[in-house]
Amino acid sequence: MEYGAEVWIERDWKQAETKVTGMGRRLLNGRRNLNAEVVRGELGLETLESRWNGARLRFWKKLIEGTNPLATWVYNKRREDFVLNGKKDKGNWCWRTWELLKKLGMEETWITEYTGRWGEWRKRCAEKIAQNEKTEWRKDVERKSRLSTYAKVKCELKREKYLDFLRGEEMRAVLDLRGGANDLEIDRGRQEKKPRAERICKVCKAGVEDEVHVLTKCAAYHEQRRACQEKLKLSELLEMEHFVELIGSSEKNKKQWKSIGRFAAAIFKRRKELLTQL
Ligand SMILES: [Zn+2]
Repeated sequence: MEYGAEVWIERDWKQAETKVTGMGRRLLNGRRNLNAEVVRGELGLETLESRWNGARLRFWKKLIEGTNPLATWVYNKRREDFVLNGKKDKGNWCWRTWELLKKLGMEETWITEYTGRWGEWRKRCAEKIAQNEKTEWRKDVERKSRLSTYAKVKCELKREKYLDFLRGEEMRAVLDLRGGANDLEIDRGRQEKKPRAERICKVCKAGVEDEVHVLTKCAAYHEQRRACQEKLKLSELLEMEHFVELIGSSEKNKKQWKSIGRFAAAIFKRRKELLTQL
């Protein structure tokens, strides 16, 4: 699918990105409406665009160095045309390469065509691309209100440890609490366009039912919460900071994640029971 992408990809291939995200979502056993940013974030997934950009810059170096004299001759001709036309021809292969280098803060390299040794070039490109990817991903996360909790618990674009420690319902419950796609009133209300203040917990009726509420406040899960606190030797679980500590990406071992996963799964199980009794 990607063979020669550096030559023929001239626009974002959204469909391919969607396919990869879909595979990631299945791998996580996430809900169908789980945001793509969360799928990528939890798995530390690189976009195809970044991979293709890397390939493009490596191919560009080969063109500059004249590895294939005919290809270099064509490139030089195209570059000349591109510059003469005021760098406006988007159909010219050079346009996207120039745009990419600008986006990565490497326009100077486009002008000088000095790329250094192969090892240095690979490393520099990989770093710039990864940095750009992280910035773009973070911007997308912060733009969506559904991901406001996720923005607090997740900072790095890298694979989450809990995915290696948890399975089934426990993994799903932790993902639901982190990723914002869950059955809680906060998420349901968003879909129904209900004001935030009206997305009240149906179980305790004592506040907006968001992720922090069920994990640290809701009286219905007091027992489960106490059991988890005892396992983790925590004095209390009351506020947002405790929530972030518990469900966030901070360093935790297998045993700790197991206790958290069990607690999260117990909340959703109990909630389901209580809701059917209403
Ligand atoms: Zn409640």
